Amino acid sequence: MSARYDLADWDAAVSALCAADEVAIACHVNPDGDALGSLMAAYLGLRQLGKRAFASWGTSPAKSPYGYDFLHVDEALTQPAALPRTDTFLALDCGAADRLGELEGRASDSRCTINVDHHPGNDQFGNLNLVVPTASSSAELMMRLLQDCGVQIDRAIATCLWTGVVTDTGRFQYSNTSPETLRLASELLELGVPAPDLAGEIWGSLPFAYLRLLGLVLGRAKLLADAGFVYSWVRLEDLEATGTSLDEAEGLIDALRSTRDADVAAIFKQQDDGKFRVSLRSKGPRSVGEIARARGGGGHELAAGFTADDVDATVVGIRRDLSR
Ligand code: 5GP
Ligand code: MN
Repeated sequence: MSARYDLADWDAAVSALCAADEVAIACHVNPDGDALGSLMAAYLGLRQLGKRAFASWGTSPAKSPYGYDFLHVDEALTQPAALPRTDTFLALDCGAADRLGELEGRASDSRCTINVDHHPGNDQFGNLNLVVPTASSSAELMMRLLQDCGVQIDRAIATCLWTGVVTDTGRFQYSNTSPETLRLASELLELGVPAPDLAGEIWGSLPFAYLRLLGLVLGRAKLLADAGFVYSWVRLEDLEATGTSLDEAEGLIDALRSTRDADVAAIFKQQDDGKFRVSLRSKGPRSVGEIARARGGGGHELAAGFTADDVDATVVGIRRDLSR
């Protein structure tokens, strides 16, 4: 049988994980559902095999973001400064080593860094690289990797994996949803994943204050019709005025992208340091991955992000890029 996904490193990664007594696992900073779901699935799966597993990501302090309490990440989490140095280091959902934040050095220091990811243009920073851009999510890859290591996918692990798949595919609506994704999803449902409950947790549990923030952001949205570009922004004072936090603002981009008058959408979210994290989405064919990479960020062709100092100057640049 050929290695999964025809990856040269797949079997070696299975062997390395099976042989390891302890494994440090990290996902990218500002973890999303796929990063958290993959992290927790790996953590639970490796522990099931009797290994010492440590889960972290490179932000101090690391704290589970809003909406994912049901994954119980905080109970598993080791703060990055306390993460033991292990021979085997598993990096999840990181398109580049710098996505590991404070843990970036681990990717080069560890004897065996295994890079499990689905971002196109992943720079293959691992000793073993399991990079499959056609996979819906890193969770999809983690499911097969854990199974090949002999892990029984129980309901708890299936819940983590489901979270990764549904969030990265936008509930099976994006082009990364393949027949294989749905086969995997059906396997997860058969394992007893409580899909409607999880949908309620992930998308239906925002505080009422979020509606005020949504109203503010949609009310000030700008449409650059000639460029097919819609954008809006959230400043720190908006969070204060509405009593919301940035964790709760992840869904704003989905509201912006719902107009047919634009095929590219952006939301600028101001961080505590004053800079803006920019989330970009395209309905295709224009690549927002290219726009993000040109500004020091990255992501997929249709969903990407970067950090900017200023809204207006950045919009001028994006408009120019889109008009080319
Ligand atoms: P989001 O807008 O949901 O934060 O991110 C969309 C996609 O772009 C995700 O795949 C995410 O990992 C990626 N992404 C967001 N920000 C950055 C960044 O600063 N650098 C890189 N390399 N990828 C990013
Ligand atoms: Mn992902």
